[in-house]
Amino acid sequence: MQNVIIFVEHKKEQTRKVTFELATQARSLADRLGGAAHAVVLGAGASQIAEQLRAYPLDTVHVSEDADVDRYLLEPSIAYLEAVAKKIGPSVILVPNTMFGRDIGSRIAARLGGGFAADVTGITVEAGVISCVSPKLGGALITTCAFQNTDFGVVTVRPNAFTAQAGGNGAQINQLEKPAASAAYSVTIESEVEEASGELGLEEAPVVVSGGRGLGGPEPFTTLLKPLADAFGGAVGASRAAADAGWVPYSLQIGQTGKTVSPNLYIAVGISGAIQHKVGMRSSGTIVAINKDGAAAIADFADLVVVGDLFQIVPELTKMVEAAKT
Ligand SMILES: Cc1cc2nc3c(=O)[nH]c(=O)nc-3n(C[C@H](O)[C@H](O)[C@H](O)COP(=O)(O)OP(=O)(O)OC[C@H]3O[C@@H](n4cnc5c(N)ncnc54)[C@H](O)[C@@H]3O)c2cc1C
Repeated sequence: MQNVIIFVEHKKEQTRKVTFELATQARSLADRLGGAAHAVVLGAGASQIAEQLRAYPLDTVHVSEDADVDRYLLEPSIAYLEAVAKKIGPSVILVPNTMFGRDIGSRIAARLGGGFAADVTGITVEAGVISCVSPKLGGALITTCAFQNTDFGVVTVRPNAFTAQAGGNGAQINQLEKPAASAAYSVTIESEVEEASGELGLEEAPVVVSGGRGLGGPEPFTTLLKPLADAFGGAVGASRAAADAGWVPYSLQIGQTGKTVSPNLYIAVGISGAIQHKVGMRSSGTIVAINKDGAAAIADFADLVVVGDLFQIVPELTKMVEAAKT
């Protein structure tokens, strides 16, 4: 028997959409493993988020509003997570495959001496043993891995890989006590986070509209791409050429040295489709390229290439999307 614990990443009392995907996946996994589905939510706003989580099929939501969680770097969160995992017994811990999730996931795996599987898009259970499916080398290789020598471990789950489904009878809320002697080495002095667009993180947006060198400068990102992304309820991304030029912050960069995204729809505007860009977005549902060069590399893997001048096409497309909404 194994339990499943999800770690809830949130800020300013808003949790990420991936939390609800993890909650749904936790229920399904716990049922297959014969255990219970738990969530751990920590820091300012934790109680409010725990209430939202009661709409999902979890058994217990462990909560602490401890201010130290927000004040210090990862140590307090790890101490709480470790305490819950040790109390409820061998568990599979699911965390979002975000910057923060990867950071905390690897540390809690090391702390508990468990296995670690990163950027997972599928989980199977056979005879009580879980296997994780994870694309590597930008999706060129699909790996299946299991934990070695342990019956528990940490899995970082790619946002948008699983569907969220509300339901359940309302999880029990358990107020956590502060773990004894939780060492905290580093304090947060200032925190500045650049998000791609609105409340949605780039990695979770259902639609990503990305711009490249073809945009020619920073302005078209706000005057052309943002309105199109907003019309779709999506987020703006960029190629490294655009980030290197200082047109957008690096937090928007998609690719080998940037973020990996897998939205339902990816629109590459003025992006040639270099391999280093491709590895960050090739797992998107539908890929549309807008490029004046029909023979650009992106044409080899896009589902649709609109050949022409982006400055004419993008405003028209935005109007069409807006019109389709009314
Ligand atoms: C180690 C390493 C890591 C890297 N990591 C990344 C990474 O993470 N992400 C990333 O993106 N790149 C990365 N790169 C860079 C990558 O190799 C490419 O240089 C980069 O992706 C090119 O960006 P781009 O497509 O915007 O520019 P370009 O290749 O210059 O393409 C611009 C495109 O815009 C089109 N265009 C121009 N004007 C218009 C117009 N008016 N209308 C329509 N189309 C137009 C052109 O036809 C062209 O296809 C990395 C490179 C290295 C060496």
